[in-house]
Amino acid sequence: MPQAKYFGEKRNNNQPRWLVLHHSWTDGPVKAADAARAFDRYHTQEKGWDAIGYHFVIGVDGSLALGRHPGTNGAHAKGFNTRSLGLCLVGNLDQRVPPHEQMSTLGDLVRRLMGEHDIPASHVIGHRETYLLNRGLTLDQIDSLSPAELLSRGAGKSCPGWNFNLMRFRNRLASDPGNEALDIVEAEATLAGRDEPSIPPRAMPAEASHPPRMTAEPPEWWV
Ligand SMILES: [Zn+2]
Repeated sequence: MPQAKYFGEKRNNNQPRWLVLHHSWTDGPVKAADAARAFDRYHTQEKGWDAIGYHFVIGVDGSLALGRHPGTNGAHAKGFNTRSLGLCLVGNLDQRVPPHEQMSTLGDLVRRLMGEHDIPASHVIGHRETYLLNRGLTLDQIDSLSPAELLSRGAGKSCPGWNFNLMRFRNRLASDPGNEALDIVEAEATLAGRDEPSIPPRAMPAEASHPPRMTAEPPEWWV
């Protein structure tokens, strides 16, 4: 675990049964600790929340930062905040593939949290899937939808980014839970058919911490 402290204390009895993945839709900051501080500032000062909405932040460089206490309900995915942990990947993964280091840390973290909370791979989901899960669709039904169909049916966000194939990520977690996170990275890179991106270290605008409601077109390679 990273050495940094959580933002805020344990406030209630969050019961993590799901892991919900997000992306920040920003280019940076590169380091998770810097991003977590920026998100905390935004969520407390602009939105008036108790603390940063996510429980973990994963930097572009693969660093990991603690967010709000895992025993405290999150503020990241309507309908799931009392029964999940929110994990935010820094970066705009609508436009870029998550870097190798970031996916490696995510894979390690997800496997650890699955073990600690007895969460199955089928409960590792993206924020974009929560909208339709809330409406009673199954993940199989959701997986069969294109991004355009997801949006038209009410998915409000792309999290954790259109370049993140959640079905493939879950299949990898379920089929070989002991393997290296590296395999997950390769699956993602293959899917997108691109090289790993390099995300320029740019200051994150203070007003940004999460995708706006989706208006962008999904990527062409998605079928
Ligand atoms: Zn999200």
